[in-house]
Amino acid sequence: FSNDGNEIRRRFLEFFALRGHIVLPGSSLVPNDPTVLLTIAGMLQFKPVFLGQVPRQVPRATTSQKCLRTNDVENVGRTARHHTFFEMLGNFSFGDYFKQDAIRWAWELAIDEFKLPVERVWVSVFEDDDEAMKIWRDEIGMPEERIKRMGKDDNFWASGPTGPCGPCSEMYYDFHPEEGTVTADLGDDSRFLEFYNLVFMQFNRKDDGSLELLKQKNIDTGLGLERMARILQNVPNNYETDLIFPIIRCAAKLAGVNYEAADDRSKRLLKVIGDHSRAVVYLISDGVSPSNLGRGYIVRRLIRRVVRMGRLLGIRGDGKGNLEGTFLPTLAKVAVGMSTEIDPDVKHNASRIYQELHGEELKFVQTLERGEKLLEQLLEEAVASEKGTSKPSLAGKGVFMLYDTYGYPIELTEEVAAERGVSIDLEGFEAEMEGQRKQSQAAHNVVKLSLGGAAAELSTMIPETEFLGYTALESDSFVS
Ligand code: ATP
Ligand code: MG
Ligand code: MG
Ligand code: MG
Repeated sequence: FSNDGNEIRRRFLEFFALRGHIVLPGSSLVPNDPTVLLTIAGMLQFKPVFLGQVPRQVPRATTSQKCLRTNDVENVGRTARHHTFFEMLGNFSFGDYFKQDAIRWAWELAIDEFKLPVERVWVSVFEDDDEAMKIWRDEIGMPEERIKRMGKDDNFWASGPTGPCGPCSEMYYDFHPEEGTVTADLGDDSRFLEFYNLVFMQFNRKDDGSLELLKQKNIDTGLGLERMARILQNVPNNYETDLIFPIIRCAAKLAGVNYEAADDRSKRLLKVIGDHSRAVVYLISDGVSPSNLGRGYIVRRLIRRVVRMGRLLGIRGDGKGNLEGTFLPTLAKVAVGMSTEIDPDVKHNASRIYQELHGEELKFVQTLERGEKLLEQLLEEAVASEKGTSKPSLAGKGVFMLYDTYGYPIELTEEVAAERGVSIDLEGFEAEMEGQRKQSQAAHNVVKLSLGGAAAELSTMIPETEFLGYTALESDSFVS
């Protein structure tokens, strides 16, 4: 069979449909769950069923789920396997089949369906899970040396401090079986790639911390589509699969760069552009517009990163000669063109997606250019005033002004300054931030006292929104 992403997705769903699973649609990236901002796994839409809060509709189901993980944003382009936006293929059992079938089917999927060479598949099990160990070793016939016992950080799943939880078993692909088994370390990502995670939800953790066996045991699994595509298409990383590479090609063309001949840095920038362009298309399609709060801020940050990286690669304007134009809609078009089987709604939202991207890119470029002028001036002053011994440093006040008045990302200031051998006064910046925070807190209190009920509404309009944005920036560890 052809190994393209759409085909892999279809075959996964069909494999489990043939084994009694109902193929259900994936859910929106905006979850119906207040505990997370975005959909991070296939199980999220089923969480109430797993937690016993609503009755199951079907005993077993299979889905392909759009996911977005901001905690992986820094890995994008740096590891070969992480994206912000990716698809998770899953099979689920709601009190129906359990460990034995889940393991046997995962194995058959990998070996019989996707034809992975038997000797290249490794698995991990939770250190105390002798049952899973036995199934892999005695029923599947996996040599014990390719089964690794791992601790609870890697191989124990829980949705919270109490409630349903259980051990996991993960499947890995070995790119270098010639290196043997003695020194093998599943954490070595130049050799191994985790592609499938099986969660055996068998316990309830009680308030006193102890575990009791659940009467109704569940299965929750996730297989990364881009990772399977990478394996089957035999390319060096997820980005070069048919699921993302067309966007990268398009970006390279706009930048006048030859991807194959490009240096590592340019390749990394192109990978980030490929990843984030896809992510923002799906986020906007699911109704998330750029803003300074929550999900909206995530889209904004992703868009800004693409724009910045595009500029670093030399893309100006629309990349085709019109300096007043924008290039994100062109990349988005490529992503939309590939979206039909990932999410049929995207096509219908296409013109809104292009419009929002165009507007946001224009706004950010203007900010960047205004900030660049001020930064230039501040850098010259810093260098001039520091002739001699110590390294020139940009005062916290200036850095804060760039951030606060011009919306200029601090990381960008840091980066541009570093290029000139200038450091930035982070402490001074933090002090300015703190000052501002106190001031707005005071303003907030005044508003509260004088306006009563309308305060909540008003307080979302005063600069505090900027601070929430900054906090989100830190906790998501976005670097521009
Ligand atoms: P990793 O250890 O590689 O970060 P993970 O253990 O965090 O992966 P899980 O939470 O177990 O991943 O998710 C199930 C599957 O989803 C993984 O086995 C992988 O195939 C895929 N996956 C997880 N995170 C990403 C990501 N950021 N980009 C692409 N695929 C992912
Ligand atoms: Mg991870
Ligand atoms: Mg892992
Ligand atoms: Mg995992």
